[in-house]
Amino acid sequence: MTSYETSIDRRLESKAEIELPRLIDVKLNAIDNIATDCQKLLLKDTCSLIVDNITYEIAGKRVKDNLKAAEIDVHVLEIDGATMESVDKACELYKEVNAKFSVAVGGGTVIDVAKYSSFKENIPFVSIPTVASHDGISSARASIKTVDRSFTYEARPPMLVIGDIETMSKAPKRFAISGACDLLSNKTAVLDWQLAHRITGEHVSEYASALANLTADSMIESRTEIAQDAILRTYTVFKGLISSSMAMCIAGSSRPASGAEHLISHRLDKILKKPAMHGEQCGLMAVFTMYLHGGDWKELKETLEKLGAPSTAKKLGVDDEILIEAITTAQEKRPERYTILSSGVTKTATKLGLEITGII
Ligand SMILES: [Zn+2]
Repeated sequence: MTSYETSIDRRLESKAEIELPRLIDVKLNAIDNIATDCQKLLLKDTCSLIVDNITYEIAGKRVKDNLKAAEIDVHVLEIDGATMESVDKACELYKEVNAKFSVAVGGGTVIDVAKYSSFKENIPFVSIPTVASHDGISSARASIKTVDRSFTYEARPPMLVIGDIETMSKAPKRFAISGACDLLSNKTAVLDWQLAHRITGEHVSEYASALANLTADSMIESRTEIAQDAILRTYTVFKGLISSSMAMCIAGSSRPASGAEHLISHRLDKILKKPAMHGEQCGLMAVFTMYLHGGDWKELKETLEKLGAPSTAKKLGVDDEILIEAITTAQEKRPERYTILSSGVTKTATKLGLEITGII
């Protein structure tokens, strides 16, 4: 076998299939289209509607009324947290009512529970985010908590994504800004992925990397309108979150959107009693890891400032020492994900980097 054939073989082995959502409906009042969208995808008869105590009032009731008007039998399940207990409750409900599909109306917690439980029971699921704050809205991975930590499970992307811009634009500004920051961190995630390729030979998808980078670039280019107008902000960030999810679906992993900055954010979630929002932490830590990569960290920092997102540890609400601790121990929980932190970074170097970038 020639080296060319070997390299083709390796590429084909690394990702054999790409699963994507079938329909993404993005409109000002897309929820009012849900019955037509379901009909197009042959989603009918009986469904479960997964919500939490807030999202039912925000949009869940409207979704239920629209589905009922289309003669779909709707069984509501209110959950409290993305835990295995919630997943089990959802699975029981699907079996009990013979649900043909599951509909999630809410933030990451509700969507992750519906995503993983529907995957376990092998039924399609519909994702209706009420906030544009993270890229799990149409990805194939679900983050579920156990007693002491959170696990990411392989699942399936939603069959249908409903992006109701008006509903999401009513959420506090901080949510969509955090979503934009999460997307900015694609820049460093891709650099970590490319570094892993050079050091460990891990396969990199050029398409997934390009799409992830393009999404981050569009946040930088649109930062002024994202900061100013609620509808434009929601639309721009939502589109970005969808593209980023697609990049992950193409890659078959979270690699294009999750590098060392995400590992640090997960560490902060563990250490802090009240962590900041996921995207806020990832965006700020992308400034630091971009500095380590020798890239344009100033552009990222300036974008955070223009967006009105936390651009220092103080604004993020984290003590300097805790941040240094989180950075220097971030890689421990996931040594197999090679990043710029894998070769180790000392506390002294971390402190210096944080000072140079003006984070502390
Ligand atoms: Zn993220």
